[in-house]
Amino acid sequence: MPSLSPFRVRPWFRPMVWGTRNLAPWYDKVVGEPIGEVWLSGDTSVVDTGPLTGKTLDAVFHEHMEDLLGPTVHPQERFPLLMKVLFPKEKLSVQVHPGDAMAREHGEPHGKTECWYTLEAEPGATVALGLRPGTTLPAVQAAIEDKTLETLLQSVPVHAGDMIFVDAGTVHAIFPGVVVLETQQNSDMTYRLYDYGRPRELHLKDGLQAIRLHTDAGTVQPKMEFGDGAQASGASRELMVQSKYFRVDRTRIANANITEDFSLPARKQSQTGSVQLIFVAAGAGALKSQGEEPIQLRRGELAVVPACAPDWSMTSSEPMEILRAIPE
Ligand SMILES: [Zn+2]
Repeated sequence: MPSLSPFRVRPWFRPMVWGTRNLAPWYDKVVGEPIGEVWLSGDTSVVDTGPLTGKTLDAVFHEHMEDLLGPTVHPQERFPLLMKVLFPKEKLSVQVHPGDAMAREHGEPHGKTECWYTLEAEPGATVALGLRPGTTLPAVQAAIEDKTLETLLQSVPVHAGDMIFVDAGTVHAIFPGVVVLETQQNSDMTYRLYDYGRPRELHLKDGLQAIRLHTDAGTVQPKMEFGDGAQASGASRELMVQSKYFRVDRTRIANANITEDFSLPARKQSQTGSVQLIFVAAGAGALKSQGEEPIQLRRGELAVVPACAPDWSMTSSEPMEILRAIPE
């Protein structure tokens, strides 16, 4: 039996001024303050199953780094990826995240490249992603002073199932009308450029330094890895995004009582494995790895599969959609 088994993580609810009190149908938590973010693999997230129940992910990471990430991975300061679900009821601030180099200048281990998987989108929903072509940094600075920064941003329509890549340096904002699964480098470095007059602090000097006028941000076209896409034959898998820091794939299981194998892609198998983060976006099922008790997972929940236990499968109890993130 491997020294570290897969485990489910307890969601951690983070209040935000732009959040909501209604997290249905994702979470049935009754909340007083508006919740903006539900952290699923944060440092303070707590293990919810197995012998490590009650420990924080950060503690597990430091005690079991090699089992978790694989023996060939160079030591890291933090669990590599943060996944969270965002519930914007109002606009999120217009913001930018630094890249690795700038983050290190500020004493942080790495910057923040992220991606957004759209779990829900109302008709006509949009996000703001990057600057309009031809925008200069002085124009950005002037627009911040005039409170017209929103007019310089590119608007991108979003639909349920879309994957949007947001590399560090991209000016962006998420707007109401969506529920988003965010996968990111595990960093909380955010520079707020404009906040619609809300009283929160802005970070203009650092923010302007972090901005890149041209980035690779945008909607990513999924690549079918197997299955027919129409999901008539049980299961299909698509690569949703591949970046320097993470890959995310989406598996759809069309029926109940299907057991789908989740062995890692061939490129990963040639190495010694890597940690896998498993998020259930629809349905419910049981995650099974060799010699272990199955872990029950339902919509909105996340499990961590350590590198030392790379072979596992999911048995659906109803049709499922599963997002898997693997650090690079
Ligand atoms: Zn962001």
